[in-house]
Amino acid sequence: MGRAVKTEAVVLRSMRYGEADRILHLYTPARGRVGAIAKGVRRSRSRFGGRLEPFFRLRIELHEGRGELLTVTGAETVDGHRHLREDAAALDAAARACDAVGRLFETSEPHPGVFNLLCRKLALLDEQAAGRARDAGVGAPVAARAGALAFRLKLLLAAGLAPQLGSCASCGEPEGLVGFSGAAGGVVCGACEAGSFALEAQAYRFMTDAFGSPLHEAPDAPERALGQVERAISATLEHHAHLRLMPAAARTG
Ligand SMILES: [Zn+2]
Repeated sequence: MGRAVKTEAVVLRSMRYGEADRILHLYTPARGRVGAIAKGVRRSRSRFGGRLEPFFRLRIELHEGRGELLTVTGAETVDGHRHLREDAAALDAAARACDAVGRLFETSEPHPGVFNLLCRKLALLDEQAAGRARDAGVGAPVAARAGALAFRLKLLLAAGLAPQLGSCASCGEPEGLVGFSGAAGGVVCGACEAGSFALEAQAYRFMTDAFGSPLHEAPDAPERALGQVERAISATLEHHAHLRLMPAAARTG
């Protein structure tokens, strides 16, 4: 009874369940977010080894029965992101990226672009962690918040929630854009700024650049501008998806 499902997947979350099992949240290209149970996986001789942990990219086999959870029957590693796992900052960033995907795309609706984006984000964090390990921590500072915000903007785009940036979201005026309004759905001009908050030129440029460049070329901006970008993303999600994400990056300093 039931049927076999073979798919690639990224492990978003892995929770202990009962004596030796784990409940997994997986993100897949064709089935969106999938809940699965891996039985006996916490026994030392489990055939799954340690690969059903968060941030693993897998080729996975699942059995789909009548229940809500699928059962993991096989798993092969595509990428374990080994360097990421040894780097606290990269682990934190990966956890926030997976959390954002799991909450913005929590249904079985397929978004293969989101799966690809998440894989690229994890690969990038792994690469950055490898670089830091090589340079014994003296490499370029981690632009964790900028990278996380660029990733979130791309998620908004994939979710059909990209804010309007080309002209005032209230009246269409293309010039004198001074604020951002979650309710209006984007930037607003001086005449429509009631209920908006200030969005400086650097924050505006960060947003347009983030939409226009690949993740590994994500723009950076001063903290103040990044704060405005994060607020713009939060306001958009609250108004249009009734969703609140955890802060884009851990507080530093
Ligand atoms: Zn206006």
